[in-house]
Amino acid sequence: MGIVHIPIHTMSDTHEPSMETIISLAKRRGFVFPGSEIYGGLAGTYDYGPLGVALKNNLRNLWWRIFVESRDDMYGVDAAILMNPKVWEASGHVTGFSDPLIECKKCKHRFRADQVKTKPKKDKEDNLVRDEEVWICEHCGSKNNMEEPQQFNMMFKTHAGASEDAMTVYLRPETAGGIFMNYKNIIDSVHPKFPFGIAQIGKAFRNEIAPRDFIFRLRELEQMEVEYFVRPDEWEQAFEQWRIMMHEYAQAIGIKDSTLHELEVLPKDRAHYSKRTIDFEFDYPFGRKELWGLAYRTDFDLSAHEKGSGVELKYLNEVTKEKFTPHVIEPSLGVDRTVLATLLSAYRQDEMGNEKRVYLAFPPIIAPIKAMVSPLLRNKPELVEKARSVYKDLKKVIPQIMWDDNGNIGKRYRRQDEIGTPFCITIDFDTLGEKPELKDTVTLRHRDTAQQERMSITNVISVVRDAIQGITSS
Ligand code: ATP
Repeated sequence: MGIVHIPIHTMSDTHEPSMETIISLAKRRGFVFPGSEIYGGLAGTYDYGPLGVALKNNLRNLWWRIFVESRDDMYGVDAAILMNPKVWEASGHVTGFSDPLIECKKCKHRFRADQVKTKPKKDKEDNLVRDEEVWICEHCGSKNNMEEPQQFNMMFKTHAGASEDAMTVYLRPETAGGIFMNYKNIIDSVHPKFPFGIAQIGKAFRNEIAPRDFIFRLRELEQMEVEYFVRPDEWEQAFEQWRIMMHEYAQAIGIKDSTLHELEVLPKDRAHYSKRTIDFEFDYPFGRKELWGLAYRTDFDLSAHEKGSGVELKYLNEVTKEKFTPHVIEPSLGVDRTVLATLLSAYRQDEMGNEKRVYLAFPPIIAPIKAMVSPLLRNKPELVEKARSVYKDLKKVIPQIMWDDNGNIGKRYRRQDEIGTPFCITIDFDTLGEKPELKDTVTLRHRDTAQQERMSITNVISVVRDAIQGITSS
């Protein structure tokens, strides 16, 4: 049936939001709040509100669908966060999981040495002094007044047990440790064919020296990780496969190719276990920085845990009797940075009816709310009753929908635009049969174009369902 065209003017220069814009939208609309805020907060911690939880669930579920369920060679685990500390001794984290810490002699503020601002050193005649830089304290502004850098271990320690000599345990700094601990369990219980992978989504903790940039650098974070076990001579093709899959995921969640950049990490900058690493960097408002990582971890972990535990962790091919220590490819994706990148990627501003409009152009599959149902007027009981029944029917098939009858219809649409709801469904007098040929039809409004279509309630259900399954876009 008919489509109503609403003139939209896109303001092309306002597509890139500032961090302040995103942080304030996230708080105002219930995506992300500062952690324990009424006590002044705790650096590096944030809480997710109703829309943030829904967005995160959608991002995790889609990741699981693509990285695990779409394949025949992937197995999931959910390992304990607390582990025997020997895990982290063997993996090298107790000695090696550290960042260089530097302290300002004047104000005693501490920074990550590789993130301290520098500027080129000049002599009295204003000539550059080659290979020398001036270190500037971000807090008090003093120049070249820093202590020597020291290595600072970022693992959080706690104690397991009530006795005085309770065991020191660590909050895991990456989920990978829990995956390696289950390598043998998966072999012994599932008997997977080679190559195969293990996936896990869960919290990780890093005592970052300088948590910053909203949910970019946190002390409590969440990761979606795969350890994919391969024959030593097959690592390159597996690396390539997962690299492509990471791009597929980026595309599915609305991260544009033009904002995602692969950085081949130089040997001197790679983690202690890696022989090749690609950082997937994203253009944040504060610069191009890591979003996700893809690493070739060789047989470092399984060999180290075999040595540390005394338990053999080799793979035996029952047919050929070939026995070897598998090598590992690891795609590692931070959930929180993914949330930030999708919010930034989805943010749009345009002008509609001479008013500025803000909307989040989430792909429907990750939108926290899929559709809003509303009666055209809230003071007409017959409209409200019909709208309620449409809402109830739709909610049975698509639970992530919302009811809104507050304020005028234009305001309701704007509120939904701002949280990225792809569809608004309005019940009006034609739905009740004022024009008999339109009975039981509703208007379906599309978020990005603001176009409205008239269609039957049954068609609305299938349009919304198809869109959130990725069959068509909004
Ligand atoms: P960075 O160089 O930014 O400190 P990293 O190289 O230490 O990151 P990895 O150890 O590769 O990060 O961790 C894998 C993924 O986990 C990262 O790509 C990122 O998405 C996420 N991640 C790591 N540290 C943090 C953090 N402090 N806060 C939020 N997410 C993080």
